[in-house]
Amino acid sequence: MVCYVFKNFDKHVRVGKLVCLARTYREHAAEMNSLVPSKPLVFLKPESAVIFNNDSIIIPRMSKCLHHEVEMGVVVGKRCKNATCDEALDYVLGYLVALDITARDIQSEAKKHGWPWSVAKGFDTFAPISDVVLKDKVLDPNNLDISLKVNGEMRQSSNTRYMSYSVEQIIEFVSSIMTLKRGDLILTGTPSGVGEIVDGDILEANLGDICFLKVYVRKQE
Ligand code: MG
Repeated sequence: MVCYVFKNFDKHVRVGKLVCLARTYREHAAEMNSLVPSKPLVFLKPESAVIFNNDSIIIPRMSKCLHHEVEMGVVVGKRCKNATCDEALDYVLGYLVALDITARDIQSEAKKHGWPWSVAKGFDTFAPISDVVLKDKVLDPNNLDISLKVNGEMRQSSNTRYMSYSVEQIIEFVSSIMTLKRGDLILTGTPSGVGEIVDGDILEANLGDICFLKVYVRKQE
């Protein structure tokens, strides 16, 4: 059973909605042959997709090609609507490292037809997250190394300073659309180097030297 809480607090915080950004790193947009949008591109992932350290990503029967996308997660600490950049970080509880697992074959088909990405992004286990690090432990969220190794081999390595938007701008933009609540999680998009994962893989993601995530990949039984 998946537990929808951030596990490392005395008082557990229930995970709310997952607001995900796409094409926030120029090089990743380029590797997907996509244009960088003038505003952040937003989609939602269900909280039922969340798994934690040492859990397994399950390859669903409907997909033949899963991709990893390592991303910084921003956890919302309190209700937030129409935040300005100046006050945006007041609403942050902390940060984590996450994987936005994507059924790339299903997403490619959806893109072709102009369909939503909810299926490609929304399967159970498609949102592994690390423990949350509280914001006072993070000097500057806009300057954190972010990386992902698959079976010990570096696949993605970048820094959050290469995002097209700061965390403050992201919170300002998202909260201008929808109210953010305590426990909501914003996934800020992936740097370049995305690629396929298969049954038996071991994924290790890092954000700065503060957040660590290790998960496994296996087929649906
Ligand atoms: Mg993503």
